[in-house]
This record gives sequence, C-alpha cells and structure tokens, in this order.
Amino acid sequence: MAARFLLDANFPESLHAEICAVVGLGLDVVEMQAITEQAASQRRRDPQFRDAVLVAYEYRCAMCGYDGRLGTEAVALDAAHVRWWAFDGPDSVDNALCLCSFHHKLLDRGVVGLGDDYSVSVSARFVARGPAAQLLVYDILGRPLREPQPGQALPALPHVRWHRSQVFSGPARVLA
Ligand SMILES: [Zn+2]
Repeated sequence: MAARFLLDANFPESLHAEICAVVGLGLDVVEMQAITEQAASQRRRDPQFRDAVLVAYEYRCAMCGYDGRLGTEAVALDAAHVRWWAFDGPDSVDNALCLCSFHHKLLDRGVVGLGDDYSVSVSARFVARGPAAQLLVYDILGRPLREPQPGQALPALPHVRWHRSQVFSGPARVLA
C-alpha cells in the first residue's frame, strides 16, 4: 500500500518500473495494491484521456513525428502529462502531449522540456555519445512542437512552466 501511494503521489507512471527496480520492489505486487488504493481515492483518472490526446495529435509524437502502428494499432505512443497527475495535473488535452515512449520518458526525466514559444528544449546536462542519441535528442532542440489538430489546445503555459521549474534538468542547452 505504502509503496503504491509513494509512487503515485510522487512520480509519473513512466518511471514506476525503474523506481521499483532500484528499490527492489516487484511492480506486479505494487499494481495489485493499486486496485484498493484507487477504490479509496477521491480523484479519478479519465479513461478517455489517452485516446483524446492521441487523436488531438493525430497519432504522432509531438517532438519527433514518430507515428508507428502495428496493424491498425498505434504502438509506443503515449499521452504524456506535462504537469504530473500526482501534482494536480489534470487528465486533459491542455495538460498533455502525444509523445513516443522514448520522448515521454525523456520529458518525465527532465531531459527535454518546452519553452514558452513551444519549442523543444534539451538539458545541457544531457550528453549524447553516439549518433542515435544525437538524432533523437540534439536534433529536436529548438524545433517547434508539432501542434495538435485545429480546435485542440496546446499545453497551457502554467503547466509548461511547472514542468520547466519542477522537472526539467536545467540549464537548457544552447542552440548551436
Ligand atoms: Zn518522439
């Protein structure tokens, strides 16, 4: 119970497995405890959240454009919270980005973030050592976010600024 509470209260879901591995907890045990926790919780997750975000961004990563499918199903595409749900971030399109699983992880780890102009920023503390990391991280620095379809909101600036001050690992890398 306590483990699940600590995970949900402090970390986004994309980091749970990693944290459990570090502290030696089985995530399956933690997940079983979650059923009871969620039943007791006042705050409910919106089951439509992921679909709403993926449709808003037309099933493409807003940072790199990845749009992979297996058959008709989008794979490795997530609805990423900008302001973490655990820190009162709502399950709404204006607090979310459709990201590939890789950029979702980097957003939650503070490697990438957003400027007020919705360009992608990268932590100066991140070091890419080979061409793949350079391509996936350095090459998106300064790029404008791929916007959602007309009528759908970009992440609201208060959420963008919350991520920058609370999660992003500053300072930001300077564009060469
Ligand atoms: Zn991506």
